[in-house]
Amino acid sequence: MTDKIFVAGEWREGRGDLMVSRFPADGSINAELNAASLEDVEDAVQAADAAWRVPCWRGRQPHERAEVLYRVSDLIKARVDDLAALQTRDNGKPLAEARGLVASAAATARYFAAACETLEGELPTQRNSDFMTLSQYEPLGVIAAITPWNSPIASEMQKIAPALAGGNAVVLKPAEATPLLALKLAELFEEAGLPKGLLSVLPGRGSVIGEAIVRHPKVRKISFTGGTNTGRHLAHIAADKLIGTSLELGGKSPTIICEDADLEQAIKGVAYGIFSSAGQACIAGSRLFIQRRLYDEAIERLTAITRNLRVGHPETPGIHLGPLISERHRDSVAAYVERAREEGGNIRAGGRIPDSPELSNGSFYLPTLIDGLAHDSTVCQEEIFGPVLVALPYDDEDELVGLANDNAYGLAAGIWSRDYQRALRLASKLEAGTVWINTYKKFSISTPFGGYKDSGLGREKGRQGIHAYMQQKSLYLGLDATPMNWCD
Ligand code: NAD
Repeated sequence: MTDKIFVAGEWREGRGDLMVSRFPADGSINAELNAASLEDVEDAVQAADAAWRVPCWRGRQPHERAEVLYRVSDLIKARVDDLAALQTRDNGKPLAEARGLVASAAATARYFAAACETLEGELPTQRNSDFMTLSQYEPLGVIAAITPWNSPIASEMQKIAPALAGGNAVVLKPAEATPLLALKLAELFEEAGLPKGLLSVLPGRGSVIGEAIVRHPKVRKISFTGGTNTGRHLAHIAADKLIGTSLELGGKSPTIICEDADLEQAIKGVAYGIFSSAGQACIAGSRLFIQRRLYDEAIERLTAITRNLRVGHPETPGIHLGPLISERHRDSVAAYVERAREEGGNIRAGGRIPDSPELSNGSFYLPTLIDGLAHDSTVCQEEIFGPVLVALPYDDEDELVGLANDNAYGLAAGIWSRDYQRALRLASKLEAGTVWINTYKKFSISTPFGGYKDSGLGREKGRQGIHAYMQQKSLYLGLDATPMNWCD
């Protein structure tokens, strides 16, 4: 693995502090590298600003730009196993999940290659008496892409691919804990023939390197995925600079089991929705509302499933939950569960660190099911970002909608019901950017994704994903040769 960073089209030793990437399953060291420095930021942004302006990228035919993304997609597909293994080492996700994320990154590159090839301008007015108008899409310039640690390859490609497809340059700062995948992606883009300077990858501290990138005057958009507090801070910086943002932020998503649900399907879907990725997913379905008539049976079955989930080494086939990203994060999850106990919660499953000796060096936490809490309790309201599910009963739909929407976040929601009229009625009342009905945590790259309320601003994916990195220019074409008579 490289110990260099990718600045302005060159591999160099970072001039910043030493960074250590550790395997969360046992604390062993994956790589040590020097982070980017403020000088590296300057070099990267200047090179990006020069690179997007020259015709070798934005002036290329769309199909030629697309070609680079198709090649990157093919390179990723040819190396799925290696990339998945690296992602697992970097953030501890089970290998099967990491493979899924790698495949999704390859699909994202292909999708935006196709979007680039087929992107069309508009003809807002047909020819009228003396002029007609055209509207064309142009790049924004240098894009700051800032990403979190939970699904690096997928969230990084979701920013790099549409931004490059739109003719921009990207300066990417990956999360402190997961620099390796982003650097690997830079290698693949280089191999695919991306012109120098269009992509730099600058590992480093968010408050220093991330902050310097987004504040740089030549950065024309901030595309951020991460916590809501950080997102709000970046939105202030963007407001001062009068530049746009895409903000993909936190969540505390409700899932709902209606009285007519297929309980077997619902329970298994709920368990997957919260406990896969050890709950470290923005869209984790972490608040569960169960119609009171089904409550006891649903809780009993969910408790049994939760207790039987296999927590283990992420490289071991067949495990359900790997470690959390770090001991510090594990301690934060454990503190939330203690808080739930203090607030009167009933811990039905989990609620502690596993005691098996082979997991003792990693940051593992058992999948945890809690009920008996009031909906205004801390654990029902705050994002925990770990394997902790809180369950509550409800009686009728009005009460349910009130509770489900009684949260600062609005990223996603799940509904389990055999009655699609009911489910669609409910979906229209939920304040969430994505609603899954009789499924959960499924993704399509052609479907826009983003949050309501404190979960974000803007949408990624879908055809508008490329427009998010472009600006429209309107052209008026005069068609009448007669001089204007205004000053006669
Ligand atoms: P975080 O906000 O702490 O960090 C995210 C990134 O921002 C990191 O790269 C960090 O270094 C950087 N950063 C921090 N301060 C910065 C600053 N002042 N200037 C510039 N960059 C800065 O989030 P995290 O702990 O890495 O990730 C977990 C959060 O991400 C959760 O809240 C989760 O819900 C959210 N998330 C959201 C989505 C989504 O699509 N909505 C997807 C994944 C994760």
